[in-house]
Amino acid sequence: MSRREELAERLAAVEGRIAAACEAAGRSRDEVQLIVVTKFFPRSDVDLLAELGMRDLGENREQEAAAKLADGGPPSGVRTHFIGQLQSNKAGAVTRWADVVQSVDRPKLVGALARGAEAAGREVTALVQVDLDPAGGTGRGGAAPADVPALADAIASSPLRLGGLMAVAPLGADPEPAFARLAALAEALRADHPEASWISAGMSGDLEAAVRHGATHLRVGTAILGDRPSHR
Ligand SMILES: *Cc1c(COP(=O)(O)O)cnc(C)c1O
Repeated sequence: MSRREELAERLAAVEGRIAAACEAAGRSRDEVQLIVVTKFFPRSDVDLLAELGMRDLGENREQEAAAKLADGGPPSGVRTHFIGQLQSNKAGAVTRWADVVQSVDRPKLVGALARGAEAAGREVTALVQVDLDPAGGTGRGGAAPADVPALADAIASSPLRLGGLMAVAPLGADPEPAFARLAALAEALRADHPEASWISAGMSGDLEAAVRHGATHLRVGTAILGDRPSHR
């Protein structure tokens, strides 16, 4: 089987899961956007996914993404999402290629991203990443829920566009209560910022739970591209 056929087959399987999850949740398939996470996989896969009709791609490491997307930019019509932990000294570099930065978790990043977006002359959407682990400080990034409103206000009053919220379910725990919390935080956010309608949640292992709790964007890697090398 060619890589193209393999990707097409896995995409169809994931699409089937999303459709079933939407149906079970009484939601329209149009309310949910699939972002294919291509980290650790080569540019050739990015091009194949674009050919297969994928319009949203995610990367989590600035240097890897820049190297992959630098040559002539991303495929045309593809929206690129940065989903990884971000150092503020890399923020400017990310805004040279990312259309969406999903991992804004502290005020310092807002200014750095806004300056980068302005310098690059690009419109960048920012999401607040929330830490959903009840114990907090999991090392997966994310602002404490209590810090979300102030961070959202900072983004909304900057040149960045406030998209909404992003989260990763806590490792090794039931994702349901975490995604329910995220949905409540998103609803509170929309009361202040009606335009901030995105809920980016759900990965290969928990996309059904995310759809059940209102996710508008799913970030799926392994289920489409296969296992990542565990060390690099
Ligand atoms: C890698 C990654 C994903 C995709 O995870 P899979 O389990 O491979 O689907 C989603 N979100 C973030 C933030 C990631 O780093």
